[in-house]
Amino acid sequence: MFETSIVGSLPKPAWLAETNKLWPQWMTEGDALRQAKADATLLWIKAQEDAGLDIVGDGEQARQHFVHGFLEQVEGIDFDNKVKMGIRDNRYDAMVPQVVAALRLKGRVHAFEAQLARAHTKKKLKFTLPGPMTIVDTVADRFYGDKVKMAMAFAELLNQEALALQADGVDIIQFDEPAFNVYMKDAADWGVQALERAAQGLSCTTAVHICYGYGIKANTDWKSTLGDEWRQYETVFPALARSSIDQVSLECIHSHVPPDLMKLLAGKDVMVGVIDVASDTIETPEEVADTIARALEFVPADRLFPCTNCGLAPMSRDVAWGKLKALAAGTQLAKERLAAA
Ligand code: ZN
Repeated sequence: MFETSIVGSLPKPAWLAETNKLWPQWMTEGDALRQAKADATLLWIKAQEDAGLDIVGDGEQARQHFVHGFLEQVEGIDFDNKVKMGIRDNRYDAMVPQVVAALRLKGRVHAFEAQLARAHTKKKLKFTLPGPMTIVDTVADRFYGDKVKMAMAFAELLNQEALALQADGVDIIQFDEPAFNVYMKDAADWGVQALERAAQGLSCTTAVHICYGYGIKANTDWKSTLGDEWRQYETVFPALARSSIDQVSLECIHSHVPPDLMKLLAGKDVMVGVIDVASDTIETPEEVADTIARALEFVPADRLFPCTNCGLAPMSRDVAWGKLKALAAGTQLAKERLAAA
């Protein structure tokens, strides 16, 4: 009960990449970079195990960014001529590559870090991929001319990689779809369908993470415009409840998401965000356990998976480490409270 995990990303050590950045530059290249990525991956697996998490991941140490790390292995994308594009409904500008031809995988995308992680932990292993709708929102289209068509093309490639990751021994494949919280109607109309295409044929556990973004200024500014009740999940949760996806990861602590929206996910595992990624303050075990208790009003105990609100990538290593420990300690306290009740 209450198996703990993080959403996915963790800070990159200063010897691997620039720190406190969402799109950091690597500190080295070639074989040295490959080795540094491997070292950082092992370091964070050990840290997650030491903190006491039940499910661990690679911390996304081998990819520059959660979307572009995948795109780098896709043929038909021009990375040399990036263009500035407003993403997440123009919430912030990003330099994005352009789709210029039919899409095809050049080969495996994440074999190196997935196989490395699998070889070095006996814990359940979760691996993250960007969702098709979020990819479409983080790349400039000069070829397909149709969002849904392009999303389905990406979904097929994601599916190829997901099936290969499953063969590598990954237990949970999670697709990250922050765009579901921005284009709610599109998410319900075709985003979930594209997601199911990406997960087609998988027998391992499948998950989707939907959030209000990393704890960067553009996101915290945006959140402050969303009012007292954040009801974005309300449109997409019913579509997800009807889908083949097993688990849904959502924001909870310090958000204005009405907790009763979790009822819309009946029949699914719910990864409840009990760690805030927009604040450097380390949660106390009591705060984490209280958040779990609030979620328990709407999610059965055997369906509740304590998690972080989003990735921890742009934070400092010390803060991220403190938050991993808080997640485990707070969950332990919640278990004790439940046993005593
Ligand atoms: Zn997120």
